[in-house]
Amino acid sequence: MRMIEKNGRKDLAVVYLAEMKNGRMVEFVDSCDPTVGGRDKKWVIVVSSQFGCPVGCLMCDAGGNFKGNLARTEIISQIQKVFEENPEVDPKKCKKLKVQFARMGEPALNDAVIDVIHWLADSYPDAMPCIATMAPAGREHWFESLLNASQRFPEMQLQFSLNTTDPEMRDKLIPFPKMSWPQMDDLGQRFHRPGSRKPSLNFALSPGIPVEAKRIAGYFDPEIFAIKLTPLNPTYTAGENFLQCTKDHEEAQRLVTEKAQEFSVLGYQVIESVGNMEENAIGSNCGQMVRKFKAKMPEYAEALA
Ligand code: SF4
Repeated sequence: MRMIEKNGRKDLAVVYLAEMKNGRMVEFVDSCDPTVGGRDKKWVIVVSSQFGCPVGCLMCDAGGNFKGNLARTEIISQIQKVFEENPEVDPKKCKKLKVQFARMGEPALNDAVIDVIHWLADSYPDAMPCIATMAPAGREHWFESLLNASQRFPEMQLQFSLNTTDPEMRDKLIPFPKMSWPQMDDLGQRFHRPGSRKPSLNFALSPGIPVEAKRIAGYFDPEIFAIKLTPLNPTYTAGENFLQCTKDHEEAQRLVTEKAQEFSVLGYQVIESVGNMEENAIGSNCGQMVRKFKAKMPEYAEALA
């Protein structure tokens, strides 16, 4: 791995841009939650699992320009680089070490992600892996392996990115073959362990994108599933696709809180995740740093294409 650039604030989030074999680039994130304390209390590392992404969601800067899966060692090297950058913290002593497979790429399309999760269990058994997936069709064996691997951790998080309750809109936003809702429901039920964190259904809210809580209640049991709501981040791709995003924190919070109430009255636990608007300026949304770099360095980008 050759480091190219890093951007951000150590007390919030740092995004790294690195070059792997054959000039392919990845981004990964080292972040902590200033409201909770330092990295010894909560540490969130977000890694890429693919070079670009074949899914091509309309709101995501990582989509398109897919150049293959990362190998096991290439994913692990992102985690190790973040540890190296923080020599003062022992990751084994961190109270909540989360490793999210949620940066560039759809993790369920890469078998090496399962190997990395087993490596994590061997090396950092108290860590909490977190998989954010749009649940691609035809990857049932991958999810079976994930279910097996989840038994090795006290907790693992599974997040399904739904983004809308309108099936046609969902096909537009996430233009890739997907599991049906009953299939996702079945997986979530098998993944759920009573007393531990529920699998979540994630929605990135935008005024123009329908999200009907009652429709979700017809498929997903609130005893099993939680709802996670975020405002749709102002990415380049979202702008190009005319999706409405907000950069105003209060407006974003209002959008999320109103929708949260609709789910809460139906009995769902709702996680409201508005985040820090400064993270958008840092470029902490998927694919933003690679995209910015290519825009700055067109000749280099051409050589990598
Ligand atoms: S949101 Fe995830 S699945 Fe969709 S294009 Fe981005 S990285 Fe791929």
